[in-house]
Amino acid sequence: MAIKASVGYMSVNHSRQMTKDAAMSLEIEIVPILSDNYVYLARESASGKVLCVDPGEAAPVLARAEELGWDIDTILITHHHGDHVAGVKTLKAATGATVIGPGGDSQDMPALDQSVGDGDAVAFGDETLRVIGVYGHTAGHITYYAEGEQALFSGDALFSVGCGRFFEGTAADMWPGLLKLRDLPDAARVYCGHEYTATNVAFATSIDSQNADLQRYAGIVAMLRAEGMPTLPANLGLEKKINPFLRADDPDFAEMHGFKGQEGVAFLAHIRAGKDAF
Ligand SMILES: [Zn+2]
Repeated sequence: MAIKASVGYMSVNHSRQMTKDAAMSLEIEIVPILSDNYVYLARESASGKVLCVDPGEAAPVLARAEELGWDIDTILITHHHGDHVAGVKTLKAATGATVIGPGGDSQDMPALDQSVGDGDAVAFGDETLRVIGVYGHTAGHITYYAEGEQALFSGDALFSVGCGRFFEGTAADMWPGLLKLRDLPDAARVYCGHEYTATNVAFATSIDSQNADLQRYAGIVAMLRAEGMPTLPANLGLEKKINPFLRADDPDFAEMHGFKGQEGVAFLAHIRAGKDAF
């Protein structure tokens, strides 16, 4: 089953609808795979070129692309984990797509046609994909920000109300990357690698119970999940207010948890340890 991303806009991000026609350069489709992964297909409107982000499986992606009449030109990889790359070989064989991925994340990585890293830009039709390194979940994890569309493909670096576990790094590695993502415009929409939002909201609420924006969002997330709908894309402006991992340098939030004067890396490590044990 595939679900149109636009349904998520209607429930979560009303402002998107108002600006949609003027700025639209990517039409983005969510393809759920495995137990809770999302693969994204995106068609650039000027060129008709289609990209696919993190195909952890090939068959459901090929099936959805065929339904849409879309030919996949490019495969983007955020990091080496199997649930993000296991479908790459088959998908490439079936479509002849160019595979672009992180040069700094070579472990178990399928053969890349183009290796990219932090600060690189990839032209895709009229769209520009800016590569932003966010290290810690894996050593070389990258994200892709589509500047025209203001869409961030965040892999397992940033989730709605959460961030990826620090498997190959520390809070000190992760924090500068999270700050780079936080610098993106409030209007940006975040397309994450997993549907983890409900659990993330439960954890965030446990450490930030008075946050009215978080409470409102919890209601929306519960409604969407009850309908079997994705909670994504997330709105980055809202994430800046409710995602504890993006607020580790908030002095009041840090003080509330006994980290007065230690906001930033130390408080981020504390929040991550709390989530890991949640
Ligand atoms: Zn991962």
